[in-house]
Amino acid sequence: MTKDAITRAYIGLGGNLDDPAARIQRAFLALNQLHHTKLVLKSSLYRTAPVGYLDQPDFINAVAAVDTALEPIELLDALLHLELDEGRARSFKNAPRTLDLDVLMYGDLQLIHDRLLVPHPRMGARAFVLFPLQEIAPNLLIPGMGSVKQLAAACQDQGIERLENNTP
Ligand code: ADP
Ligand code: MG
Repeated sequence: MTKDAITRAYIGLGGNLDDPAARIQRAFLALNQLHHTKLVLKSSLYRTAPVGYLDQPDFINAVAAVDTALEPIELLDALLHLELDEGRARSFKNAPRTLDLDVLMYGDLQLIHDRLLVPHPRMGARAFVLFPLQEIAPNLLIPGMGSVKQLAAACQDQGIERLENNTP
């Protein structure tokens, strides 16, 4: 496989167990150390109330931009490995988690694969993705969904707090 093509990808980071803010800071460093991948931008950390299953701690979320020569599935597998390094266990949908790493976008790619949907299908309706994404890429267009600005404006009612000094 050629490693010549570099693609700007956006990664969503989130967690709500065992010092998630520290886990996200470690994950930023780990993204920069992935093969054929450089961390380009990282957002502030944000705090949000849980979605779906409500009886769990608030989430800490952030978004990173990376330039990568990894193929989309290679990038997903690398992220799943980082999740395991941080002790991620999968129990039930919307369960509390130490670290969740999602491929939000991979260039302009629109991909439907059994293991990977890009852009991430729920990113256009989630303040905890759109607000940090807007911070690092205000003019971004999400393929098939629209501009990050317009989508974020439509999510104003979802409770989200930017952490000024990046500590909860
Ligand atoms: P969620 O992030 O939706 O809460 P999980 O982190 O448990 O759920 O992910 C479950 C599966 O979702 C992963 O094993 C992966 O194969 C699949 N998946 C599909 N699209 C994506 C994407 N864009 N980013 C990350 N995982 C994805
Ligand atoms: Mg995930």
